[in-house]
Amino acid sequence: MEFLPTINKNKCTGCGVCREACPVDVFRITKAGRAIALKNKIRDCIGCKECVTECLSDAIRIGRTRRIK
Ligand code: SF4
Ligand code: SF4
Repeated sequence: MEFLPTINKNKCTGCGVCREACPVDVFRITKAGRAIALKNKIRDCIGCKECVTECLSDAIRIGRTRRIK
């Protein structure tokens, strides 16, 4: 099982705190002012939930997934 960060676009304000918080650099902030989880970085997620803790908008969830390599 691996971790799968997802962002609720309706809650995200694009503040960038998640980007700062993530030790493996999963997030980017789009020009439209929303966080995205980079597809090629999601695999690096260690499930630490720093992003969940730090996001003031409660916009991030860390799910679990069985990923086919
Ligand atoms: S910390 Fe939360 S509100 Fe801020 S950019 Fe990340 S997901 Fe969006
Ligand atoms: S759980 Fe940790 S490693 Fe995964 S996206 Fe959030 S801050 Fe990054």
